[in-house]
Amino acid sequence: MKILVIGGGGREHALVWKLKQSALVEKIWCAPGNGGIAADAECVARDGGDVPAIFALAEKIAPGLTVVGPELPLVHGISDAFTARHWKIVGPLLQAAQLEGSKIYSKQFLLRHAIPTAKMYGAFDSVADAYAALDRVAWPLVLKADGLCAGKGVLVAKDKPEARAFIERVMEKGELGPGGQRMLLEEALEGDELSFIILTDGHRYAPMVPTRDHKRVFDGNAGPNTGGMGAYSSDDLLPAGLRDTIISTIVEPTLRGLARDGVSYQGFLYVGLMLTKAGPKVLEFNCRLGDPEAQAIVVRMDFDLAEVLADVADARLDPAKLKWKSGASACVVLASGGYPGKFDVGKTISGLTCIEAYTGVSVFHAGTRRHGDALVTSGGRVLGVTAAAASIQDALQKAYDAAARIHFEGMHYRKDIGAPAGRLKAVGD
Ligand code: AMP
Repeated sequence: MKILVIGGGGREHALVWKLKQSALVEKIWCAPGNGGIAADAECVARDGGDVPAIFALAEKIAPGLTVVGPELPLVHGISDAFTARHWKIVGPLLQAAQLEGSKIYSKQFLLRHAIPTAKMYGAFDSVADAYAALDRVAWPLVLKADGLCAGKGVLVAKDKPEARAFIERVMEKGELGPGGQRMLLEEALEGDELSFIILTDGHRYAPMVPTRDHKRVFDGNAGPNTGGMGAYSSDDLLPAGLRDTIISTIVEPTLRGLARDGVSYQGFLYVGLMLTKAGPKVLEFNCRLGDPEAQAIVVRMDFDLAEVLADVADARLDPAKLKWKSGASACVVLASGGYPGKFDVGKTISGLTCIEAYTGVSVFHAGTRRHGDALVTSGGRVLGVTAAAASIQDALQKAYDAAARIHFEGMHYRKDIGAPAGRLKAVGD
């Protein structure tokens, strides 16, 4: 099998790493890939969000299967273009990808099918109406820009001035681009967050192991939001009762709702949940694997990912094939100094030689590139140090031991991945 993976972050490196282990796989390309993926696949300098460019590449290399990592190619219709040519691809069609591409579409979908979610106060395309609605809501209030805004489109506002300032920045000044033209206002939910990700072929589905990510930049959930500073997975994250509730009240009604709407959904579906006192409620859908969650997930896979993804593309997923290593995993993201604000790139990374052989951890690259013989930083999130083990304590210990061997100027990482259980003993601080 020849496979094309689209994307160039830690999630895509994790996918490539796992796909490469399959005896069925002959060759992997990755567009655009990165400095670490280059060791496992042939990287091709194409922007994943540029559908015509990816289409032309696929025409040339004729992959037997294409796997889409990020959301942008999906909301730009890459699966529609490939499917029209009968090229096999994993990832939903444009209409189905609207579950992520439009927060308003997604909220209306949830409400239409009575799937538990935060109450909606309204959806607005007029700034004046959005301001006026602020008199009729409870505080704190959640404001969501409708379209894709690179993770910056959601604010939990404590009061009216904060909410007004966000509406002004996003709707009036257009600071987040076209994704901010419409705004959804909804109730703020309280509880612990949990990511529940499934793989579906449109008929059958299989859940991934449960994961939780850490979005804030500093320990103790302090500082601004990031794309994710780490994630962990463990069997005890999701007791059987809660798992059954999520499946019966959220996952299955979602799949039935899609079918009832005539929307065929194929690929990974990420359900962001708030575990409230009244039960789990949907915060958001993503039409892909989360990152860094994907990194914590792949190291627990005890099945042939290439075979399973090919099955999905052929609409014959067999959920029984998805076997998992029992225990846990942890992914610690090593970030550039200053991230998620301004940061420098081009810093030489040391300590990676033979690290997988010495420590048994996998180091997935996100923001790296090759510079001659050296590997240098090229993004905010640089590496995802990821380990699987029999317990979460052991997985964290392995990941942190390996992280302590790696160095680049300005490098920082959270020392409390896997908290609140206080499981961590960081090394090298
Ligand atoms: P979203 O992209 O919709 O998941 O929002 C990003 C983050 O905002 C979530 O991971 C939550 O931490 C927070 N969030 C979103 N919706 C709500 C809500 N209704 N109540 C509380 N927090 C929320």
